[in-house]
Amino acid sequence: KGPDPDLVAIVERMATVKHKILVLSGKGGVGKSTFSAQLAFALAALDFQVGLLDIDICGPSIPKMLGLEGQDIHQSNLGWSPVYVESNLGVMSIGFMLPNPDEAVIWRGPRKNGLIKQFLKDVYWGELDFLVVDAPPGTSDEHISIVQFLQATGIDGAIIVTTPQQVSLIDVRKEVSFCKKVGVQVLGVVENMSGLCQPLSDFRFMQMTETGEHSDVTSWVLQCLREKAPEVLNLVACTDVFDSSGGGAAKMCEETGVPFLGKVPLDPQLCKAAEEGRSCFADNRCRASAPALKGIIEKL
Ligand code: ADP
Repeated sequence: KGPDPDLVAIVERMATVKHKILVLSGKGGVGKSTFSAQLAFALAALDFQVGLLDIDICGPSIPKMLGLEGQDIHQSNLGWSPVYVESNLGVMSIGFMLPNPDEAVIWRGPRKNGLIKQFLKDVYWGELDFLVVDAPPGTSDEHISIVQFLQATGIDGAIIVTTPQQVSLIDVRKEVSFCKKVGVQVLGVVENMSGLCQPLSDFRFMQMTETGEHSDVTSWVLQCLREKAPEVLNLVACTDVFDSSGGGAAKMCEETGVPFLGKVPLDPQLCKAAEEGRSCFADNRCRASAPALKGIIEKL
């Protein structure tokens, strides 16, 4: 029996891609796609040639996070063409192929694997410095397929995104174990939503009564601050939202022997940037999260 022709086609196609990075998470909703999107934006801003492949077949959020909702992919004689944000940032997602984004994709494993295979062998990326692959949460069929296909062409490793609380970290341990079992290097773990941070001037201040009613006293508080201590308004205020008394991701990394890349706070401006499909680095609005993300990306 000769070599698998699909695998041969994938190896050929991926020969023009220098680095391949998988972004994983144990649970959904922890910010994996947000991180993948911002990583792709950051690498493109550094003038690298970047591809972002979304294999979250049941919940593709990458098109929206890159500002490409409603776009179509095109076919050329070289294969499927990614949708481009900039000439050096191309995106491929099943989200571009669905006639109605509200409709559920109910596919069994083999069909999902078939599409992942097709993405890897039929998308014409051209020369890429980085291919960032945004995987679905967990460790299921899609993960085994993508790892198996990418390993044939060399994969740099995986970044795991988590939130600080124990329930999320238990699943991260499973991701780490998955990577170890399949022989993928863990490049590191990102602790996302690690506290809420935003400029004090963006907070709303409430006066609560004993019956739980509250009135908005924001303008009064801001006026007091402006008059008495205007420099306080320039501060970024932070508070823990999730319980990280167990030591969070940093401790888990120490215990499992994988690198800890850093913490990204919950930042309403980052959420807004993701909703609007923007880079959080492009302007200075993401004051709380952009420096943290930048520090993490520099470590990679
Ligand atoms: P996942 O890919 O893990 O399912 P998403 O990246 O889709 O998670 O994030 C879930 C939601 O949380 C999105 O609306 C996203 O914009 C928001 N979000 C993620 N990380 C942050 C953060 N650090 N600050 C604010 N909002 C965030």
